[in-house]
Amino acid sequence: MYIASPYTKAEEKHKHRCNACGIEFESAEQLSTHNRLEHSSDAHSPAGIA
Ligand SMILES: [Zn+2]
Repeated sequence: MYIASPYTKAEEKHKHRCNACGIEFESAEQLSTHNRLEHSSDAHSPAGIA
């Protein structure tokens, strides 16, 4: 039998959390952008930033 759980979507939507800040993002893309802008870890560093 199939039970329609209202929490299925909530469970499906995983939070993408920044390890450095602890800020949660709705999508991995937002987290990726955040990491690039705020931490720029493991990314090609834009010339100019010391
Ligand atoms: Zn962060």
